[in-house]
Amino acid sequence: MTTSSVIERAAGLKRTLAASPQELLIDGKRVAAVSGETFETLNPATGEVLARVAKGAAADVDLAVAAARRAFEQHAWRQMSANDRTNLLLRLADLIERNADELATLECLDNGKPARLTRLVEVEGSIKTFRYFAGWPTKFGGETLPVSPRGGAQILNYTTREPIGVAGLIVPWNYPLSMAAWKVAPALAAGCAVILKPAEQTPLTALRLGELALEAGFPPGIFNVVTGFGEAGAALVAHAGVDKIAFTGSTEVGKAIVRACAGNLKKVSLELGGKSPHIVFPDADLDAAAAAVANGIFFNQGQTCTAGSRLYAHASCFDRIVNAVTDFARKLKVGDGLQPDSDLGPLVSQEQWDRVNSYVRIGRDEGAKLLAGGQRPAGLDRGYFFEPTVFAGATGRMRITREEIFGPVLTALEWADIEDLISQANDSEYGLSAGVWTNDIKQAHRAAAALKAGTVWINCYNLVDPATPFGGFKQSGWGREHGRQAMELYSETKSVWVNLS
Ligand code: NDP
Repeated sequence: MTTSSVIERAAGLKRTLAASPQELLIDGKRVAAVSGETFETLNPATGEVLARVAKGAAADVDLAVAAARRAFEQHAWRQMSANDRTNLLLRLADLIERNADELATLECLDNGKPARLTRLVEVEGSIKTFRYFAGWPTKFGGETLPVSPRGGAQILNYTTREPIGVAGLIVPWNYPLSMAAWKVAPALAAGCAVILKPAEQTPLTALRLGELALEAGFPPGIFNVVTGFGEAGAALVAHAGVDKIAFTGSTEVGKAIVRACAGNLKKVSLELGGKSPHIVFPDADLDAAAAAVANGIFFNQGQTCTAGSRLYAHASCFDRIVNAVTDFARKLKVGDGLQPDSDLGPLVSQEQWDRVNSYVRIGRDEGAKLLAGGQRPAGLDRGYFFEPTVFAGATGRMRITREEIFGPVLTALEWADIEDLISQANDSEYGLSAGVWTNDIKQAHRAAAALKAGTVWINCYNLVDPATPFGGFKQSGWGREHGRQAMELYSETKSVWVNLS
């Protein structure tokens, strides 16, 4: 996309969005909320209203669940061959590709991140996810187990995998389209019907994805989208007609979801917060490590669950690494995501800006040393922009070392002893991911084994792929997305015993 085409497309999208409220998608139709209420979604780069969106709540969730249940039980869906489900998912991936420019621009306007990143991460990432999961329906089956004979009788025992039913998918605002794809793709591949609840800050690409699914040929009611606030998510979680909840978001809401799911013991998977350690050994390629540390925290304005927000650099290279990262932080261009030279866009909302800003104050009050950033960039007077920020002189007890800030704020810590390093790195309620930079292969594998994290990156950071499991230890979540494990999240196993004698 050229700059002028992005700006023109953005202007066209803004006009279309301003013309009428964005309605819910229930049973294959765009409908207003039962209450008739709407809410505003803002452009984080300007703070201006981008669109009015239907404010779904419990009554809308009731309608969506009823539609999903009907569609799920229908012959057309239940009896669809695995091959036909594969073809629908591939068609949806093709349609995302065909509408890639529009989706990338829409996400840039709604979320704020640079358009070239929405294109790469949200759009290309989602296409890849749908294509990957399109491969599973024809390969996801049960097994035959060696239990025969029993008491002289010949016995056949086999297992089947069946779709879990109606799945409620609740996604956050930091990667709106790709988080939706991570859940929708395996759920549909497994044969579920879904109700997607996007975050109130970023509802627009979810609605567009739902429309494209209809265009691809998914039967009405198989893919519903209910926009709204947390109360819509809570209604979905509490609903007795929902068989499974998949959630990405804060640990606090994750815990509330677990409690609420107890009602009908629906299955739950959670991808929650993180405070990931990014570790540099003295023998590492220090230039590459410094670049990765900077990217690991500042990418997506630090609004990434796997953000490498705690740097642990060895005492012998601490100054060099921290100086290089600080240098990166100062050089990164913060600006409107529609501009091609913007490395960082705005934070998603005023609320998130206030949260990040409050942590900068907390860090200073705790006695950490602010080396870079810490405020609104000069010349960007509106929107929710925040400078890439680096703190040094921190201790393991400080709140900026322990709590998820979810913004472009790095806390740098020094280490000298390997045992102490591992215990500091693991001293967190979270366990989502970790990064290790070293050229010593034994050291790398020992660290990977010792770190309590769902993903460990060695001499790389933030690589994800739909083929490899993603999720957290400890309070970073339950279950794993991606790969075969995601198919298991959206299905039940049935064991069948047959007496052949
Ligand atoms: P939330 O956990 O509140 O939001 C995530 C999703 O859950 C949204 O769709 C939200 O809807 C929905 N939701 C909110 N309350 C409920 C509920 N009671 N039952 C069901 N669904 C609910 O995150 P926030 O947006 O408030 O962000 C706060 C912090 O959470 C961030 O600063 C960050 O630390 C962390 N976070 C972590 C993410 C991750 O990737 N692990 C992603 C986003 C946030 P609605 O938007 O309408 O409130």
